[in-house]
Amino acid sequence: MTETPATTPKPSGPDNRFDVILIGAGIMSTTLGTLLKELEPSWHVGLFEKLDGAGKESSDPWNNAGTGHAALCELNYTPRAADGSVPTAKAKGINEQFHVSKQLWSHWVDNGVLGSPRTFINALPHISFVWGDENAEYLKARYEAMRAEPLFSHIQHTEDQDTIASWAPLLTRGRDPQQRVAASKFDDGTDVDFGAITRQLASHLEGAGTDIRYGHEVAGISRGTDGRWNVTVKSSSGEKFTATARFVFVGAGGGALPLLQASGIKEAHKIGGFPVSGQFFRATDSSVAEQHHAKVYGLASTKGAPPMSVPHLDTRFVEGRRSLMFGPYAGFSTNFLKTGSYLDLPLSVRPHNLKTLLGVGVSNFELTTYLMKEVTKSRSKKLEELYRFFPEADGDAWELITAGQRVQMMKQDENGKPILQFGTELVSSSDGSIAGLLGASPGASTAPSIMFRLLEQCFPAQAQAWKPRLESMVPSYGRLLNEDPKLLAEVHERTSSVLQLDN
Ligand SMILES: Cc1cc2nc3c(=O)[nH]c(=O)nc-3n(C[C@H](O)[C@H](O)[C@H](O)COP(=O)(O)OP(=O)(O)OC[C@H]3O[C@@H](n4cnc5c(N)ncnc54)[C@H](O)[C@@H]3O)c2cc1C
Repeated sequence: MTETPATTPKPSGPDNRFDVILIGAGIMSTTLGTLLKELEPSWHVGLFEKLDGAGKESSDPWNNAGTGHAALCELNYTPRAADGSVPTAKAKGINEQFHVSKQLWSHWVDNGVLGSPRTFINALPHISFVWGDENAEYLKARYEAMRAEPLFSHIQHTEDQDTIASWAPLLTRGRDPQQRVAASKFDDGTDVDFGAITRQLASHLEGAGTDIRYGHEVAGISRGTDGRWNVTVKSSSGEKFTATARFVFVGAGGGALPLLQASGIKEAHKIGGFPVSGQFFRATDSSVAEQHHAKVYGLASTKGAPPMSVPHLDTRFVEGRRSLMFGPYAGFSTNFLKTGSYLDLPLSVRPHNLKTLLGVGVSNFELTTYLMKEVTKSRSKKLEELYRFFPEADGDAWELITAGQRVQMMKQDENGKPILQFGTELVSSSDGSIAGLLGASPGASTAPSIMFRLLEQCFPAQAQAWKPRLESMVPSYGRLLNEDPKLLAEVHERTSSVLQLDN
């Protein structure tokens, strides 16, 4: 968006005329709203959320795994290459982004936008754990590759069951002492309550004058002849009206695809959404939760499992309470949102994306088979997966909870080949006047970096003027910590202290 929005604040008026409209009150919209409030306090920003509060879909703590994704333990970010090497480029990129998140959250703690760090982030070791010769060899190769990088030089590694028992006793209790196991550990991992961050940001925005309307669903978006976007809104009381803005962010989570399609922008053409639902086991015995203090990620045991479905045994901190979760178990439902409709997927099929959808369906036969198997998996089959991690688990002391929906993006690559994308992708119109976010991983952990990218992409006219302010919020803004160990040490020290992450 190159045009400068009005510089004088406008009261929320009956004409619903805004500089910026944010759709959805998840972590993405509230992060963007808070950044804009700081960069351009005079802009008139409106936010429409269909539910009765903020952070109630994927950003809610029980709808996601709460992992501060920094690529410390998630093995899907460091898959083994065909030649046996373990490339670290993707892991480095995600780790850099999580450092950006911690810096921005530190800045917001310092200036009172966010409350006590303990309400939303907790230090927690991140461990990768595997068994069997082939997997142990892979983990060793990963350890060697990662420790060569400044970002990961503090990695610890062992194949000794006693050492693993001292890191995470539930993993080894009752395990065959002869089984070859391997684990790598970082002590600077985190558990994050993204719902708490979202709600604190929403409440700050409301206090700072953002026009937030809960119970207001956006039903359509179209471009007016004056170049502004017309956003059709339906309130839960049945009122229907049009709000307009120069810039619209579609932060509707799984609901973003239909709205981007409705906007008619060509960048949303040929794109489809592939919903993957999830369930977790949660320990009902708090004494078991007390015996585990880590996030332990493994390798998927089933062929065709999507990368974000790797099993993990996780300590969680939600609203001051500690709990233990295992999962996820993937499933298939045609909903794009947990609170969505079974018609979401069928209604997203358009002539322009049919080839993409069919192509992805044909080329991802293993994934489809995997999802069908997961959906029909009995409770006892699900528990078998848990026992592989925690051999002495009492199957009766775990309850199944349903997590949020992830809508993976289906698109065509530069050669027109239909592909299923597992990352998070920013889709914006060529003039930068509308943008939306598709996909789900690494998701909430990297919301600040994604929103910085959006600011650069959609507000080129303002980007230079904003740069010094952004650098003061995030000292590593525009720089790579892996290439600047001194800055890395400074950033690490500052964020650990402000966010109270020193163990
Ligand atoms: C099972 C699972 C595990 C995950 N684990 C992790 C993890 O460990 N770490 C991590 O970083 N990320 C994780 N994620 C991803 C993370 O949860 C998401 O990336 C993030 O929450 C997305 O935020 P959002 O703001 O885009 O969407 P949401 O939080 O879903 O917010 C979108 C909002 O838009 C509203 N909305 C939708 N349609 C409309 C409409 N038409 N009008 C008005 N409002 C609308 C919704 O009600 C909702 O409040 C996980 C996700 C899932 C599903």
